[in-house]
Amino acid sequence: MANPLSANDPKLTSWVTVPTGSDFPIQNIPFGVGNTAGTKSRAFTRIGDTAIDLRVLWKVGLIPEVDGQENASYMGRMNCVLRCGRPFVRALRQRLSELLRNEAAPEVREQVAKAFVPVAELIMDLPVDVGDYTDFYSSREHATNVGKMFRDPANALLPNWLHLPVGYHGRASSIVPSGVPVRRPNGQFKPDPNAPPVFGPTRQLDFELEVAFITCPGNALGERIPVERAEEHIFGLVLFNDWSARDIQAWEYVPLGPFLGKNFGSSMSPWVVTLDALEPFRVAGPEQDPEPLPYLRTIGPHSFDIALEVALTPEEGPETTICRSNFKHMYWSMAQQLAHHTVNGCNVRCGDVMASGTISGPEPGSYGSMLELSWRGTKPLTLADGSERKFIADGDTVIMRGHAERNGVRIGFGEVRAQVLPAT
Ligand code: MN
Repeated sequence: MANPLSANDPKLTSWVTVPTGSDFPIQNIPFGVGNTAGTKSRAFTRIGDTAIDLRVLWKVGLIPEVDGQENASYMGRMNCVLRCGRPFVRALRQRLSELLRNEAAPEVREQVAKAFVPVAELIMDLPVDVGDYTDFYSSREHATNVGKMFRDPANALLPNWLHLPVGYHGRASSIVPSGVPVRRPNGQFKPDPNAPPVFGPTRQLDFELEVAFITCPGNALGERIPVERAEEHIFGLVLFNDWSARDIQAWEYVPLGPFLGKNFGSSMSPWVVTLDALEPFRVAGPEQDPEPLPYLRTIGPHSFDIALEVALTPEEGPETTICRSNFKHMYWSMAQQLAHHTVNGCNVRCGDVMASGTISGPEPGSYGSMLELSWRGTKPLTLADGSERKFIADGDTVIMRGHAERNGVRIGFGEVRAQVLPAT
């Protein structure tokens, strides 16, 4: 049954039905964690609208045991699997690809089919126990727009921005799976610049369109991950909505950066698309001038062509697409972010999450936050139902989607969605 074709080969077809236009053809093979009512969370892959329980495949010997997990292989979140290393995960994806190909023998198909769960019946959890969460600020367009609005239009980028991937340490505890509602935060802000601050529900609730990568295996404390090896420490990518309260953020951020305006919730898409699956979509990022310092210099393309969009659905209304952007607009690559993060010896572990920062493109329709789309509330958006938005209203659902497409193969992320609940 062994087939030498790579799991990414566009010629591969599966014996499992994949709906036309699905984000999850046989070339994807993502990883996620979920459960059905009354069962424990465990690892799955997915093809079309069918999830496949990896624990069931392991029990019949179709996939390898997770090292050190004799009776618990593929139970819980993906961290145990990731700790086996990138080569293990890569071989696992290749093996799953072989099991799902048309060439698979009838008896193999029969066994694999016993692990099927319709995606609609699966309750998705976070794919990993997030150890640490870092958020970068790597879109030049976003940083420039924010700089123009909050500081000096003539010198929008701060002096460090073109020399290093700016970032901050976020809060892992408030990262939630797609579908979990997010509550409007209370906080301190200053609606009148000439009056003292007030306390109450944020009046400027926003989303940030981001893509996050999940690390594996990481580095020891005191060592660094060189930029040319950095991608070997990236397991895969997810869509990430870094919810933000702009009024709280604007008042609190001086001088130490984001705090309560950011850490009340971030929503993550459930299926991790591996960096291996995205390999065919590798492209060059924007030209970097000035040339970065040697530890940040890379050779060859390190960006990925992933089309992204954001839609907003009012509580009773129809969906409106409000942003179309692309991951390839990021000025700093993931490899550079990871090299910079560890250059001082900071250790990164299996299952850490590193988010890109808001991904804005050059056109106004590609801005990745309401802050930019409505230009700080001065240009309200009109939705399909005729209502207007400067920021996100209670009851609104924000949905992010992303996919890459080439040679007739579409590798997608599905979506991340969350509804906003009123403040308490
Ligand atoms: Mn962010």
